[in-house]
Amino acid sequence: MTAPLTVQALLDRHANGIHQHRPIPTFAEIGAAGKLPHIAVVTCADTRCNPEDFLHLNLGEVIIFRNPGGSTASALPGLLAIDNLVTLEDIIVVKHTDCGATIFRDDTIRETIKQRVPDHATEVDAMSFGNITTSLEDSVRENLSFLKGSALIRKELADRCVGFVFDIKTGALNRVE
Ligand SMILES: [Zn+2]
Repeated sequence: MTAPLTVQALLDRHANGIHQHRPIPTFAEIGAAGKLPHIAVVTCADTRCNPEDFLHLNLGEVIIFRNPGGSTASALPGLLAIDNLVTLEDIIVVKHTDCGATIFRDDTIRETIKQRVPDHATEVDAMSFGNITTSLEDSVRENLSFLKGSALIRKELADRCVGFVFDIKTGALNRVE
């Protein structure tokens, strides 16, 4: 059995690999080259669901928002901030098979936290944790509907939101209509 990964082990990897680092362009340099990203991906925080891999991304091409379950509601403030900064043209929502968000329950999480910090019940009750209680496809549809129905998202952008389910076994991105 291999030893559990530690923070120090990661810092050691970093130190050992620092000589491979190449300077990353500044905003000004990217802007001058006309290469500001205009596509956002909202997906799960799961370490097995990596847009960098399944979309074969190069550095700086796409802005990625990750949270448990790939919730568009959780990603909303970030999407609005980035849209303000670079003007997004497309949003891609990607859920994935075997997602942990289909296992945990928001209610259970709320109860656990409230037992620990009962003084914060109101704050906790207002929080969503991204659990998926439907099929993955229906969850994608709900998330797209959320974006398209949000008064805060520009209509041109909301019209161009698309959704998929990533199959972790086959690697396929299956479009959800
Ligand atoms: Zn997941």
